[in-house]
Amino acid sequence: MEITVKINSKEGKKYKSGYPLILKSALMNPEVLEEEGSIIKLVDEKGQFIGKGYFGIQNKGYGWLLTKNEKETIDQDFFNQKIMAAINRRKPFFENTDTTAFRLFNGEGDGIGGLTIDYFEGYCLINWYSKGIFKFKDYIIHSITSMLPVKGIYEKKRFDTAGMYIEDDDFVTGERAQFPLIVKENGVKFAIYLNEGAMVGVFLDQRDVRMQIRDKYAKGKTVLNTFSYTGAFSVFAALGGAKQTTSVDLANRSLQKTQEQFEVNGLDPEKQEILVMDVFKYFKYAVRKQLLFDLVILDPPSFARSKKHTFSAAKDYTNLLKEAIAITEKGGVIVASTNASNFGMDKFKGFIDQAFIEMKGKYQLLEEFSLPQDFKVAKEFKEGNYLKVVFIRKIH
Ligand code: SAH
Repeated sequence: MEITVKINSKEGKKYKSGYPLILKSALMNPEVLEEEGSIIKLVDEKGQFIGKGYFGIQNKGYGWLLTKNEKETIDQDFFNQKIMAAINRRKPFFENTDTTAFRLFNGEGDGIGGLTIDYFEGYCLINWYSKGIFKFKDYIIHSITSMLPVKGIYEKKRFDTAGMYIEDDDFVTGERAQFPLIVKENGVKFAIYLNEGAMVGVFLDQRDVRMQIRDKYAKGKTVLNTFSYTGAFSVFAALGGAKQTTSVDLANRSLQKTQEQFEVNGLDPEKQEILVMDVFKYFKYAVRKQLLFDLVILDPPSFARSKKHTFSAAKDYTNLLKEAIAITEKGGVIVASTNASNFGMDKFKGFIDQAFIEMKGKYQLLEEFSLPQDFKVAKEFKEGNYLKVVFIRKIH
């Protein structure tokens, strides 16, 4: 059954031109929506058809538009078509034996918001971002298993699961993987755990940045990797010939995980520095010890709370950069990255400019990155292109 929902006159144009996220604030009668997973028929204030989608609560969103064709039904065939198109777009990835982990389906970029599927050497990991999209699970699993020779499927429910039965290891179907599952990215290995919570060991969206660091920036350099998680940037820097890497992350698990990433690549973790520590404390320590690095990598979460600090990228990135500038060699490079979707590249470059002004320094922008090819973005939904990475040379 389709539930008809009206878009207010102010927002009508936006949806007619293809904006896919159904915002609660754009709806005139949101109260008719009760059960997540219901099919929504979106109409303008005159009752004219705009599109069809599903009801699913995700942050500010109340669901996603799926089609502008009134006759199309949201059934097995619909999911087959979307997932087949996504697979076809990733042909170069399936054919590349050096890279065996990539995003197979990227939400609204591939036509279904609220759903991502990552591919890890024969295993699929599905992220469900609302109870609404989760209602289509059987269709989606069927599409995947009928189109790809998958060994097994895992899932993460990224919504409030209170009252739901939860399988504790996120396994869905096929055969269970042996963990760590070793995958490759441009020839470098990653130890992946699909059964330990939302973060599985690597953020696939930084693939191009890691390769650039390895191939163009690391050789002979001292490297500081802050917010290092499993040390992916450090491993690429070490493989690129870095003189020394220092990885800093607050989470206890990061030490063992980072050691493991070095080990699976045949590198001795004892020769690298891996610190479990608040990065803001580390910056103070480095200044006190007069440490300077050739390459400093900043990749904070968009929001984080530690004992002493609340960090929000939108508010605090300038200060983070100032701390980094203070411990970067003259002529050295800062890799500033953010996945915050609440500001764009121009504003991010403004933070960089502001930080250098306040430090009375000079800089040069070397190059920039956003999401890689497999993270397909919908042109009508710019905020889906959240990743911003800028390579900056500190002149003084
Ligand atoms: N750069 C990583 C991903 C970072 S994820 C990569 O490329 O894989 C964000 C990380 O920041 C998490 O591991 C979290 O533990 C860490 N973190 C958050 N606040 C921190 C702080 N104040 N000091 C150090 N690490 C912090």
